[in-house]
Amino acid sequence: MAVPSVISAPVPAVEVGRAAAPLAEPVPVEAIVEARGVDKRYDTGEVEVQALRGVSFTVGRGEMVAIMGPSGSGKTTLLNCLSGLDRIDGGEVFIEGVSLGSMSDTERTDYRARRMGFVFQFYNLMPVLNAVENVELPLLVARVPAKEARRRALAALEMVGLAERAAHVPDELSGGQRQRATIARALVNDPAIVWADEPTGDLDSENAQDVVALMRRLNRERGLTFLIVTHDIGVGRATDRIVRMVDGQIVDEECLEVRQ
Ligand code: ADP
Ligand code: MG
Repeated sequence: MAVPSVISAPVPAVEVGRAAAPLAEPVPVEAIVEARGVDKRYDTGEVEVQALRGVSFTVGRGEMVAIMGPSGSGKTTLLNCLSGLDRIDGGEVFIEGVSLGSMSDTERTDYRARRMGFVFQFYNLMPVLNAVENVELPLLVARVPAKEARRRALAALEMVGLAERAAHVPDELSGGQRQRATIARALVNDPAIVWADEPTGDLDSENAQDVVALMRRLNRERGLTFLIVTHDIGVGRATDRIVRMVDGQIVDEECLEVRQ
């Protein structure tokens, strides 16, 4: 199969001190993510769970969107299906205009490594690697030369205010600092979108606020697109839009007027 041109695009470098993206007038934005009628079933043998039922929605470039809903409503499933971590049983998902279903497994994995960032509740940092080694890992996986990877990882740590902790292993970092390190790791490849699943779920409220404020700042200053699954209404309120899920379906969307 012909590889869509976007897949072979070179990975843009993360630059420190790049001019902040202008806060533009509302203009039609390019869709980074588009889900059309997505279905997902889990078949565990005895019971079949219909985890997503015809989910359709769009995330525009530069948007920060929260997915909220009760436990078991399908939020994590939706994130995993939209990011190509999990397969869907119906419908279609487009990322930057390319259908995930049209990619081979290798293409999808490669695309994820080069164009997506991930932030999880329990950080998923490698315990034996220090902060800068953890942050540069996705670049090394994407075969960026070591020296360049180190330079960009340090720049990313600087962006999240963790430069002075670069040589510390995760055990020597607080929860808030660990989540900052995972955010640095998520943005180091200059991704089209950062997916976050309960990014403040393991943090006290003060650290949770710091982490969401950091994501908001990266969204505003660098135009980073975020899709954030969260239970925390404080996180939801900091975003542009809250999408509510119940029982595998989107039941409500609320656009928020966020203070500039
Ligand atoms: P949320 O993130 O909103 O709590 P999930 O997406 O994790 O919800 O789960 C949605 C539904 O799918 C739940 O009923 C859950 O039990 C089920 N589910 C999730 N993952 C699996 C799996 N790997 N196997 C079987 N069922 C699953
Ligand atoms: Mg979940």
